[in-house]
Amino acid sequence: MAKQPMLKFVQINRDMPSKRAAEDRKQDFDEIYAEFAAAKAEEQASRCSQCGVPYCQSHCPLHNNIPDWLRLTATGRLEEAYGVSQATNTFPEICGRICPQDRLCEGNCVIEQSGHGTVTIGSVEKYITDTAWEKGWVQPIAPVQERAESVGIIGAGPGGLAAADMLRRAGLQVTVYDRYDRAGGLLTYGIPGFKLEKDVVMRRVELLEKSGVTFKMNCAVGEDITFEEIRSTHDAVIIATGVYKSRDLQGPGSGATGIVRAIDYLTASNRASNFGDTVPEFESGELNANGKKVVVIGGGDTAMDCVRTAIRQGAESVKCMYRRDRANMPGSQRETQNAEEEGVVFEWLTAPKGFTGDAVEGVMAQKMRLGLPDASGRQSPELIEGSDYTEPADLVIKALGFEPEDLPTLWGCAELEVTRWGTVKAEFTSGRTALPGVYAIGDIVRGASLVVWAIRDGRDCADAILADLSAKAVAAE
Ligand code: FAD
Ligand code: SF4
Ligand code: SF4
Repeated sequence: MAKQPMLKFVQINRDMPSKRAAEDRKQDFDEIYAEFAAAKAEEQASRCSQCGVPYCQSHCPLHNNIPDWLRLTATGRLEEAYGVSQATNTFPEICGRICPQDRLCEGNCVIEQSGHGTVTIGSVEKYITDTAWEKGWVQPIAPVQERAESVGIIGAGPGGLAAADMLRRAGLQVTVYDRYDRAGGLLTYGIPGFKLEKDVVMRRVELLEKSGVTFKMNCAVGEDITFEEIRSTHDAVIIATGVYKSRDLQGPGSGATGIVRAIDYLTASNRASNFGDTVPEFESGELNANGKKVVVIGGGDTAMDCVRTAIRQGAESVKCMYRRDRANMPGSQRETQNAEEEGVVFEWLTAPKGFTGDAVEGVMAQKMRLGLPDASGRQSPELIEGSDYTEPADLVIKALGFEPEDLPTLWGCAELEVTRWGTVKAEFTSGRTALPGVYAIGDIVRGASLVVWAIRDGRDCADAILADLSAKAVAAE
């Protein structure tokens, strides 16, 4: 009987790729996890029990065929594993790096539930496609047949790029418009290099360029070109602009200098430290934590990225202030642990109520306790009277989340319907809006979400556009 290559979770323990020591990784913006060696990837993939009903797959927003690519990896059939993996995921090596796997695929792996430690799905997914790049299996798209119809995509983030990839495969002419100078959206300028190195994103952009996708960069819709112009140029338009309006802090002193927005801080850092751009606000120290006492306010993934960036910039001290406790924070536990290892101090159950100094000198803070659960089921924080104190700070970073910009006003298009939260009203499964030929995807529809959901939306929307254009062509016959 052939040797059973799978189900090794009892004999083989879960193992992640090695993580660089905190003292070493604090010195640069490189990724902190190494790549699996081939033998290790095979060994870890072989732990999968090949479930008949794979919960990992049903909890992956892309419904990746995880058991199949794990089996192919375990048996050394890597090129086939790549084929299966990329059939459902446009950017597997990116998701393998930055999906919150503990909340998605890995958090629902049955062997994790049975106490054996989850299969390291994300690391294997990353390994498969990084190897595919190395071996030259990732090639530009060469459509079987070119088609005359064109699609304009506003926003070169993961949602827009995933749609561009799918539409180009079908032979459509695709133009992506973005107000930044580089494509990638938050993959490029939001998420720091220690989670996602920038050459991983840039090689994907170059691949799309080689595949015939046209990029119009430094082109802000609503300023450099009108939305109407884009609509009249293309047969279909996708809005994939993400959410960029930062939630603000109120209270005395909140206008002091030295209180900055997370997105500005992270963009400056990504530009200066990962791309070597000259960034005046970084050089002047305005958006640079070097030598400063830093307080980051918020408990999500953006806050974790800010505190860890500040550590790498050589801050004197870095504190994270969050009004709930660790168990109730929205950020990933893995990233929180990484931050702690790197020297970040967490002030749990602490809320800011104001700031001292014209140039900020401190955060006036109050301690909280958790009260009864609110409508969302989360315990509401309540103030503890008499617990006020001032936390010294000369750089305060606001990482309280993002909201959509007011697109109908900015674009002079009142007919573009938005929800009461300002997100664009669109069908989740297709991106169709009420405007003919206009679709919307990613964060601008969902609110601040995840890369993997933006990819899913981009792929679904491309399918819907292809169906709608075919229906239109048939109707015109
Ligand atoms: P975006 O990535 O925001 O891209 C939108 C693009 O549209 C941008 O390039 C922007 O320049 C462009 N644009 C906007 N308006 C205009 C206009 N008027 N004209 C032209 N172009 C325009 N998710 C994860 O899954 N894992 C993580 O670890 C993670 N970390 C994160 C860390 C940070 C700091 C932040 C802020 C987010 C993080 N996210 C993470 C969330 C994730 O980045 C987003 O959910 C995802 O990027 C959304 O993709 P998108 O394509 O909808 O929009
Ligand atoms: Fe897991 Fe994300 Fe990969 Fe899906 S895309 S298998 S959720 S890492
Ligand atoms: Fe394998 Fe875990 Fe998925 Fe089951 S849930 S198929 S064991 S990875």
